[in-house]
Amino acid sequence: MAKNAAHSAAAADATPLSENGTSLYVHVPFCVSKCSYCDFNSWELHDGGALERTVDALLAETRIRAKGLRPQTVFLGGGTPSLLPPNLVGKLLDGLHDATDFRNSSLETTLEANPESFDFETARAAFGGGVTRASIGVQSLRPDVLRAYDRVHTASAARQAFFTARKAGFQRINVDLIYSFPGQNSEEWFEDLEEVMAWEPEHLSCYELSYEPGTPLTKAKDSGLIKAENRDVALQLFNETRARCESRGLSAYEVSNFAMPGEECLHNLAGWRSLDCVGVGAGAVTWQGGVRRKNLAKPEDWIRSVESGAEQAHVERPGATTRMFDCFLMGLRLCKEGVSISRVFQQTGLHPKEVWAKELESLFGESLLLEEGDFIRATPRGLRILDSVLGQLLPAGSGGEFTSEQV
Ligand code: SF4
Repeated sequence: MAKNAAHSAAAADATPLSENGTSLYVHVPFCVSKCSYCDFNSWELHDGGALERTVDALLAETRIRAKGLRPQTVFLGGGTPSLLPPNLVGKLLDGLHDATDFRNSSLETTLEANPESFDFETARAAFGGGVTRASIGVQSLRPDVLRAYDRVHTASAARQAFFTARKAGFQRINVDLIYSFPGQNSEEWFEDLEEVMAWEPEHLSCYELSYEPGTPLTKAKDSGLIKAENRDVALQLFNETRARCESRGLSAYEVSNFAMPGEECLHNLAGWRSLDCVGVGAGAVTWQGGVRRKNLAKPEDWIRSVESGAEQAHVERPGATTRMFDCFLMGLRLCKEGVSISRVFQQTGLHPKEVWAKELESLFGESLLLEEGDFIRATPRGLRILDSVLGQLLPAGSGGEFTSEQV
């Protein structure tokens, strides 16, 4: 069954990703300053020397944990990796290649960049060092919205960053945008979207503004200073955004992600398919062989831990039902593809239609999920209420399946 399962997941896959391949994620945890909506593991950079120590520690950790990995995708994320000066971009990429051979193995190597720090020299250092895809955090082209997000760049810097990436040689560029800013005129959002699409990026990420616990934006909402966008308006923005992207050839392949044909982000696709990934850097997560490992989050703690030669991390071994739920949590976001039943079996040893016979029957009956060949995916209606769909599959007492340890 496992052999057939692997065959049928691969047969339905038009991308070059291997079911048995492993990705590499490299986390650069610093930013110029913290954005008001951000709950990523990112920290304001106060001391330029921290960047050099971070690169050294990233390379040391890669040599220990990813030596000879030959990753099928690489993603340098953050934080703001473009904050690294060109010489450190070059040092990091050379060191990653020496340890993992990524320049010969990786199908796609992405660098996240922000407009305030993505000049031509940095872009050239990245491109020349083996980065094949740039992902630029634009978020908005409105000065008032950028200010409310505490972004440190202007709209014109964002435009410039995009064309700098092109000039440096990047033929694959993603732009990140956020919609549903409280009270924003819808027309302004669509003007931003249309302008960005006119730049002709190969990929677009359009996220609805989310209020994560503890962020300044959430505090402003909770104290009544701002009011979250009305759900009906947000839904209308979501639907029209998808329609406009599709009309320009940017296909909605994930809830918030749009790509020209063949331009899907392979690294993220591997993650949504729950394929293995080694993460290095502060707070980075590794998912490999059914074991999840999370590095220490604070950059200084993580650097010391790596430098000590006995790195600490939090390790979990989730049980099979939890892993199957995670496959659905990630995979149902892929609106055109969904979750491969045979891949779930291959990864967990469980068959979702046996374990969740009643639950899936009910979700199929309510037209929230549908089954097509080897795949289960959300219907347009199911996609809009994905949290509640997943709530019906949540394994009771799944927390009991975890074991944690410090290593
Ligand atoms: S630039 Fe990105 S990672 Fe850094 S604070 Fe802003 S949203 Fe967070």
